[in-house]
Amino acid sequence: MHIAIIGAGISGLMTALELVEQGCSVTIFDQQHAGREASWAGGGILSPMYPWRYEQAVNNLAKHAKALYQEWNEKLKPVSGIDFQIHETGMLILDEDDFEIGLNYAQQHNEPMQQAKYLQHEQLEQVNPHIHKKYQHAMYFPQIANVRNPRVLQSITAYLKQHPKVQFKEHCPIQTLNIQNNKIYSIVDSSGQNYVADEYVLATGAWSKHWETQLGLSIPVEPIQGQMLLFKTPENWLPTMCMNKVMYLIPRMDGHVVCGSSMRNIGFDTTINEAVKENILDACFDMVPELAQFPIVNEWAGLRPSSPNGIPYIGAMPNIKNLWANFGHFRNGLCMGAASARLLRQLILKQPKIENAVAYNPKHLVKMDLV
Ligand SMILES: Cc1cc2nc3c(=O)[nH]c(=O)nc-3n(C[C@H](O)[C@H](O)[C@H](O)COP(=O)(O)OP(=O)(O)OC[C@H]3O[C@@H](n4cnc5c(N)ncnc54)[C@H](O)[C@@H]3O)c2cc1C
Repeated sequence: MHIAIIGAGISGLMTALELVEQGCSVTIFDQQHAGREASWAGGGILSPMYPWRYEQAVNNLAKHAKALYQEWNEKLKPVSGIDFQIHETGMLILDEDDFEIGLNYAQQHNEPMQQAKYLQHEQLEQVNPHIHKKYQHAMYFPQIANVRNPRVLQSITAYLKQHPKVQFKEHCPIQTLNIQNNKIYSIVDSSGQNYVADEYVLATGAWSKHWETQLGLSIPVEPIQGQMLLFKTPENWLPTMCMNKVMYLIPRMDGHVVCGSSMRNIGFDTTINEAVKENILDACFDMVPELAQFPIVNEWAGLRPSSPNGIPYIGAMPNIKNLWANFGHFRNGLCMGAASARLLRQLILKQPKIENAVAYNPKHLVKMDLV
């Protein structure tokens, strides 16, 4: 079976990986370089930020994140030479209003928030001595890890590029789905070149609305900008991820600390805004004041593919026999990415499923004339 995948972010790349490992041949298209959009820009926290604030459908995919990334890292590293750097730092949550509901949630659901602990001030100081002294207590989730997402993308891309059943078409924007008799016959790029496959996958992230008119469906996916900052501290300086008021610090193994983020609905705009940057800095220094002594070495913004309730569309697109969706992961595409791709592969190849697929079914997309 030959499958064409449009979009080479985490959703498209992991889908390709899943399918080639089952013996399929794959062509992956991206309008620019592979892995340079939301999936590069994200923080790589391998859990929704406050799982109890999300639909169960989001948590059901996210709970597989750490194990699946560990599995893929072991498989890909010997070929790509790149380590995903899954960093098991745990997560401190400082929002007092969430303590009760969060601890209850952790007790009810063994995954992904295993072994949540309430920390008194002394314990908090032991777990992370850099937290501002005004924080007298915290919730701690020692199992939550983060992954170096740009390395995940590089590793998968390197692995796929050397695979005999994979073709990469970068800088190749797909514009048109050539549909006849409820079937895709080919896809067409911006220079008019046609490409033919048996099955086609839309993994086009924040750009997925592009397909609305051609498919006659309303696709409620918008680009929601998030801005980030990168500090460089000494190695192992910040021992845990930290979260307060939806702002976070994510320590990498080599001492880099990623800080974010913002939420702005301003279209396909990734320019840095100074006021937003100040907001992020204030929130970070409020949690960890000593961070202010270290240099900022990078800053960027990325476009999250929003969707209603943050539940992605995974599965067969309505009314077209050979078209599949894997988009709309909003704030959790990195932690849901590996399981989303596995689920889609299982749906395409009619295999047993990692999770019940009903909640993600694109049949929920409404016809345009009904909107
Ligand atoms: C600041 C920020 C922080 C985040 N932090 C986290 C986090 O800590 N944990 C987490 O789980 N998630 C996080 N996310 C969310 C996560 O990054 C996204 O949900 C995820 O990356 C979406 O992946 P994707 O592959 O669907 O989209 P993308 O990575 O955007 O990939 C889509 C690709 O499709 C290509 N494309 C689009 N249209 C076409 C076309 N017509 N033809 C060819 N190619 C096309 C694009 O060029 C792009 O490469 C964060 C996001 C941001 C912005």
